[in-house]
Amino acid sequence: MSKNKKLIPENIDDKLYTVKYNPDEKTHLHPKQDDCVTCIKKTCTFICPANVYTWDIESNRVLVGYENCLECGACRIACEKQSLSWSYPKSGYGVIFKQS
Ligand code: SF4
Ligand code: SF4
Repeated sequence: MSKNKKLIPENIDDKLYTVKYNPDEKTHLHPKQDDCVTCIKKTCTFICPANVYTWDIESNRVLVGYENCLECGACRIACEKQSLSWSYPKSGYGVIFKQS
């Protein structure tokens, strides 16, 4: 390894910082809130690498911070009730640059 190579380990926050977005005004992620109320594990709230989903106790709903979505599709697969309507953002919106 080169002596000049940065030795500070990368973490998920460092990686997320490199992603650039152009968020749409409307969400492309639609959980069926009626199913979410009775969902036991609420997997979406811990599987998403960008912490898009949060369970709000007061409103009894899943809050969706779609602006930070990385478009990986993990939440759609993991939703135990298969009640998450998922699509890519409209053309020109969403993730616009990702540095590997
Ligand atoms: S995993 Fe699916 S059903 Fe459960 S809270 Fe999340 S979106 Fe709703
Ligand atoms: S597609 Fe990936 S980044 Fe976007 S909300 Fe689902 S799990 Fe999170």
